[in-house]
Amino acid sequence: MRVIAPELLRWYDRHARVLPWRSPPGVAAPDAYRIWLSEVMLQQTTVAAVKPYYERFLARWPTVEALAAADDTELMAAWAGLGYYSRARNLLACARAIVTEHGGRFPGSAAELKTLPGVGDYTAAAIAAIAFDEPAAVVDGNVERVVARLFALDTKAAVRVKAAELTPAERPGDHAQAMMDLGATICTPKKPACAICPVRSDCRAFELGAQEAYPVKPAKAARPHRRGYAFWAEAEEHVLLVTRPAKGLLGGMRGLPSGGWNDAPSLDEAPFAADWRVLDAPVRHVFTHFSLDLSVACARVPRLNAAGEWWPIERLGEAGLPTVFDKAARLALRERMTETCLAC
Ligand code: SF4
Repeated sequence: MRVIAPELLRWYDRHARVLPWRSPPGVAAPDAYRIWLSEVMLQQTTVAAVKPYYERFLARWPTVEALAAADDTELMAAWAGLGYYSRARNLLACARAIVTEHGGRFPGSAAELKTLPGVGDYTAAAIAAIAFDEPAAVVDGNVERVVARLFALDTKAAVRVKAAELTPAERPGDHAQAMMDLGATICTPKKPACAICPVRSDCRAFELGAQEAYPVKPAKAARPHRRGYAFWAEAEEHVLLVTRPAKGLLGGMRGLPSGGWNDAPSLDEAPFAADWRVLDAPVRHVFTHFSLDLSVACARVPRLNAAGEWWPIERLGEAGLPTVFDKAARLALRERMTETCLAC
């Protein structure tokens, strides 16, 4: 592990990316304002997208004092197209906090930087390391990938510990940028270029031939659960069916009338007013993106004009109902047989 940092720095000295917010390797860093501005812009945004914005912002607001005095509307307009607009609001709030609470100077430690608006762990560490030579562990997505592979680590917590251990006391800013560059240009998410990697001989994932198994992807988020109603409206041995809108879930298919499926379904979603009776147990169904408890509401009504078609119940099997409505229809038919629903 001791070998990695010097090897990486040697590689960085030869191959560092040239970026407008960077000094060349070994040269004193630009002031913290420039580093902060670039790091905020780079959050969830590509280098290519950020470059013109960074240059325009710097030309228009060359210092943190100038930015703090910016007109809010003008700044938001200048940010337009970069996305994640809360960053722009935080940018202004942070610039104003620097001017009013810190005399126009960025605090020199990651711990103090983290108290500023919109400055999280990563941005604080990056500014502290690059602008102030604090050996703070800078862990963005690129660094996380590199460290996870180097040590075949399967948790973010373990990556943070190793990233901190790897960070040298000398040139911590260049080390951070070297890790970022390695991740961006060689240790890429797919097909890393291990053949030209400067730290290949220390890489556990390479040794295992399991580079793309790291970082371990987190388990998928739990499938959300929704609730809803399907309406069984029966008239003279017919049931009302509707054709669903062409776009969206079960698009273009026949189904029972139903409302939006969300957390707060309501009988007000019924196709018309009637004496709706809700069956005891809902139908359970699992779609790819959510699971559903579908309550079936039944009513016997006169045959009236309604959006949809009155379908003969004895030929319901020919209607081509998707599974979820088929389940709902079977439930209604079972209840109908026992006459606990419609004959009451
Ligand atoms: Fe990444 Fe391959 Fe280098 Fe390991 S050897 S750090 S997997 S590029």
